[in-house]
Amino acid sequence: TNTKVTVLGLGAMGAALATALVRAGHPTTVWNRSPGKADALVALGATAATTPRDAVLASEVVVACLFDAASVHEVLDPVADLLAGRALVNVTTTSPDQSRGIAAWAAEHGVVYLDGGIMAVPHMIGQPGSSVLYSGSRTAFERYRPLLDLWGESAYFGEDAGVASLYDLALLAGMYVMFAGFLHGAAMVAGAGVSATEFAERAAPWLSAMTGGFAGFAAVVDGGDYAAPGQQSLEFSDLGDMVAAGAAQGISTEVVDVVQALIRRQVEAGHGKEGFARIYESIRNPV
Ligand code: NDP
Repeated sequence: TNTKVTVLGLGAMGAALATALVRAGHPTTVWNRSPGKADALVALGATAATTPRDAVLASEVVVACLFDAASVHEVLDPVADLLAGRALVNVTTTSPDQSRGIAAWAAEHGVVYLDGGIMAVPHMIGQPGSSVLYSGSRTAFERYRPLLDLWGESAYFGEDAGVASLYDLALLAGMYVMFAGFLHGAAMVAGAGVSATEFAERAAPWLSAMTGGFAGFAAVVDGGDYAAPGQQSLEFSDLGDMVAAGAAQGISTEVVDVVQALIRRQVEAGHGKEGFARIYESIRNPV
């Protein structure tokens, strides 16, 4: 807990990360572009820096929790030389290629770089259920692991700095499609006078239970045999009735049309007797 840490960016997330560091006893320096946001942290024991330059000079580990890749460059490009020899842990949301770009920039300037993707909302930081995905410098990940673990479960995905972001976006893809599916279902039953709140009470345990199917799909995908026994066939999974019922309710069927199209492509290619996991092939091979 003696490691000096700087946090750049005290938005909702940066403030949560900094709070966890201060509470654990790390000498913590904080900086934010617009003033005022450091006050609560200073009251907890953090030191406020007035410039990114002073903030960077204060610590061996610099955490960036800004807005996007452009804001990371805007803040850090002018202080690149001061960052040399320090570790930069960038948890700002960036695309995989942007993360790789920042990693290359860091390497040019002798900065040790670890890219992070936060799988939590601010109030979850340091609480059960929070995790942060990392890729980039293995040395930095291992050396600063106790510090990183203050925010949640830390997972490391290798030296390619873009992988944490890729993984993060892959998990968010599943989340958004699930959310859209839930809202689609709520719209389907709305015509029958069912409130979204009532529907949510039934949908939440149902969808939670259905996550039990992931491992089976994964085993089929990894095994490469979509005809392996014990699976629900693609023909059986045809969503025609579901699409028609939605249309009969007068709602958009776009959410389920997407899945139906993925199924139909495999059925039309002659794979109707194979398992549902086969739509993975539709996804891997775009038309
Ligand atoms: P906020 O909007 O609350 O804060 C954004 C922060 O970025 C502020 O400190 C803001 O400074 C700063 N900022 C924006 N543009 C610039 C710039 N050009 N130069 C300097 N500072 C800048 O966002 P969050 O704290 O919620 O999010 C921060 C990062 O964490 C984002 O990349 C977000 O995607 C990621 N994240 C957030 C999650 C969440 O649930 N909130 C979850 C997972 C990741 P100022 O106060 O001056 O405007």
